[in-house]
Amino acid sequence: MAKYVYSFGGGSADGKADMKNLLGGKGANLAEMSNLEFPVPPGFTITTEVCTHYYENGRQYPEQLDGQVEKAIKKVEKTLGKNFDDPENPLLFSVRSGARISMPGMMETVLNIGLTSKTIPGMIKKTGNERFVLDSYRRLITMYSDVVMEKAAGIEPKEGQGIRHQNEHLLASLKQSKGYKSDTEMTIDDLRSLIEKMKAKVKEVLGNEFPDSSREQVWGGVSAVFQSWSGKRAIAYRKIEGIPEEWGTAVNVQAMVFGNTGENSATGVAFTRDPGTGENYFYGEWLVNAQGEDVVAGIRTPNAINIKSKQDSNQQYISLEEAQPEIYQELEGYRNKLESHYRDMQDLEFTIEEGRLWMLQTRVGKRNGMAATRMAVEMVGEGMISQDEALMRVKPSQLDEMLHPMVDPVAEKTHPHIAKGLPAGPGGAYGKIVFTADDAERLGTKGEKVILVRDETSPEDVHGMKPAQAILTSKGGMTSHAALVARGWGKCCIVGCSDLSIDFANRTATFGETILKEGDWITLNGTKGLIYQGEIPLAVIDPDTNENYKKLLEWADQTRRLKVRTNAETHEDSTKAIQFGAEGIGLCRTEHMFFGDRIIAMREMIMADDVAGRKAALDKLLPMQQQDFYDIFKVMGKRPVTIRLLDPPLHEFVPHEEEAQKEMADHLGISVEDVKNKVESLKEFNPMLGHRGCRLGVTYPEITEMQSRAIIEAAARHKREGMTVFPEIMIPLIGTAAEFNNQKAIVERVAAEVQRETGTEVNYMVGTMIEIPRAAITADEIAKTAQFFSFGTNDLTQMSFGYSRDDAGNFLFDYLDNRILAADPFQTIDQTGVGQLIKWGVDRGRSVRPELKIGICGEHGGDPDSVKFCHRVGMDYVSCSPFRVPIARLAAAQAVIEEKQ
Ligand code: PEP
Ligand code: MG
Repeated sequence: MAKYVYSFGGGSADGKADMKNLLGGKGANLAEMSNLEFPVPPGFTITTEVCTHYYENGRQYPEQLDGQVEKAIKKVEKTLGKNFDDPENPLLFSVRSGARISMPGMMETVLNIGLTSKTIPGMIKKTGNERFVLDSYRRLITMYSDVVMEKAAGIEPKEGQGIRHQNEHLLASLKQSKGYKSDTEMTIDDLRSLIEKMKAKVKEVLGNEFPDSSREQVWGGVSAVFQSWSGKRAIAYRKIEGIPEEWGTAVNVQAMVFGNTGENSATGVAFTRDPGTGENYFYGEWLVNAQGEDVVAGIRTPNAINIKSKQDSNQQYISLEEAQPEIYQELEGYRNKLESHYRDMQDLEFTIEEGRLWMLQTRVGKRNGMAATRMAVEMVGEGMISQDEALMRVKPSQLDEMLHPMVDPVAEKTHPHIAKGLPAGPGGAYGKIVFTADDAERLGTKGEKVILVRDETSPEDVHGMKPAQAILTSKGGMTSHAALVARGWGKCCIVGCSDLSIDFANRTATFGETILKEGDWITLNGTKGLIYQGEIPLAVIDPDTNENYKKLLEWADQTRRLKVRTNAETHEDSTKAIQFGAEGIGLCRTEHMFFGDRIIAMREMIMADDVAGRKAALDKLLPMQQQDFYDIFKVMGKRPVTIRLLDPPLHEFVPHEEEAQKEMADHLGISVEDVKNKVESLKEFNPMLGHRGCRLGVTYPEITEMQSRAIIEAAARHKREGMTVFPEIMIPLIGTAAEFNNQKAIVERVAAEVQRETGTEVNYMVGTMIEIPRAAITADEIAKTAQFFSFGTNDLTQMSFGYSRDDAGNFLFDYLDNRILAADPFQTIDQTGVGQLIKWGVDRGRSVRPELKIGICGEHGGDPDSVKFCHRVGMDYVSCSPFRVPIARLAAAQAVIEEKQ
């Protein structure tokens, strides 16, 4: 006969910890604690298979279930010497949901099941505490009517009209009319009248009597759990987390123990280590004369569990350690056993009933990044886990918390967000709204905190982006200009915020319903893409002084095979990246070097009508470029540096506003008309697919010549000064081998010239970006002459999906909401589509050139899942913005460990 019900308690259990799929997380852990002979209130788990059966069979239970449940109830009765539905000595149950992984949105708990007109008198007699029994009954009515009679029945009340709200209102009015401050001031008569009112309210609002049968209540609770699996909130959560429908949930029915029978009872929640800092001490809270929900609900300030856990808010209250040392000792014993048994930090719930300790729940405790890192490293030191396990215990993205100031998570919870966008640059920031780069620069350099709010940014805004605390744009995706630049600096940034509309004329920004003015304060959570009105405090951690962080990354470096480089084009960014552990530069976008004072020569080049004119302008740029490369090489030393030749369309370098066009005309001594005509002639319908990348070098070989010369001259200069550097010259946006060969010939010719002129031999390689699908497909052709590949997954994603990287923000949310896409493909490599092109490109490339060096330099190079993918397809390195280098190092190590498993 199929087994649908698993008993636990009384020192043994039918199940164990590794049966999560069948018993759910909670059920499996209750079984495990029972096997460890912890004092677990006895009970039973109805398996997830029953849930599946229930949905496959028109919401019917398997035939044997009823009998198995009755048997399990008998077992509990025997263990405790109390009986369910017994008028003399009644046993009460709690009913809780329990999926494989904890799922907010599922029915959580109904307590005190089994209180009816038949059992209440016996219960009062037995406990001698009428107040307590009536209080338990009113809690049952509140919970049961809400989760079983309303939510599970699919009733969707209007905002504020839910039965729980209405019942809580009855309680509040009673307290107000009597002038009571706390629930405990209510008399027995108050409770009696409140209960009658609540039951009448249930009948009035939901149309049914509150059930007065113990068995009806228990089955009502069980069904409500199964129903809640297909509730709206649970479905929405499953969608987001990708949890399969078929998993189902288990139901845990467990004997009630009471923390609220009087001063000798209590309830509490604890962690085996501090989940905020990771420090190895018993951390927790408890409340005398309370039920679990009172600790979680935050109505009363809980006491600290021990002296060490005391905070400012509960410093004056007595701890369990001081109040009941024996019970505390016993609890601490369980804490130690739990840690050594589960080999991880656990959270646990307990209840003390009339001086007797009961363990209600345990599970792996949630923790923040800093705590995760500290625990992982210290547990290795304690001999509890291996280095590999420690590396797997920290999510790479959690390192972000140590690399950027974050919005204080506690304060954040109390603020509703006013808008959301794409999380382009992690961390948190607050500041006053400004709408122009000039204002951001003016105020920001004076030390004022400002946030630059724009529709989008361009290289012309960089001077204002740097001094701003954060950047917020209404348009653009994860690879837009704002996103790339902010990420490079480790600056908080949100892009593609479609809830935002800016009225420049009136200097206002509308976020959904909220209208804010220039100068108003906002806070951004760039890790989550959330925008808040006002100022929310930030939390800052310094990784340089965090020994645990350094240790963990040292282990990551010993483990990983993938190298980690950075995307950088200044010596400042390169220096920062080396501090973060970068082993080279994987992408130096040279176009970023043509702004500031160089823009004049650049524009002169663009305005020139013939080769001679262009060469004259490029001659002015040459020494500046040469110095740029010299400086970067100096910082990078022997580490390889990939320099990409000019990539963006030329219209990005000319001004589009009248005022700026006039200025440009004055500077160059030409007419505004000429400038306008040029700007007009550079306009393209589809610039991203237009005259850019190697196509510029084909039309204007002199640009390729100048840049190659600058690189080789800078390398030669270092060589003469005694340092060999390793430039890798990269041709962008190749679609055919012939395009590559055309450009490579120019680079090689110029390199030969420079080496002859300087009498210095220079090491260099010439390779290409693989960012056009055709290039990936014909990688074997291209690898015949290309010495390295770097996958430009921003463009490759754009062209594979046909989603403009600058405009996709407008519809990506809908795609994610409707599960058409599981993730933003500009953040995480789409492994089934774009990933196959990459794999093909790697395999084809290496088929003709086995030693072909292959990396990635698109934004995906810093995304943990994408890094792991790059490892699996056999790349040599990933390259990402400096602040993501540590994340990539850890992800690359995890890829190796996952491969072993
Ligand atoms: C890419 O396309 O992935 C890339 C790195 O180049 P860019 O983002 O500069 O187009
Ligand atoms: Mg590109």
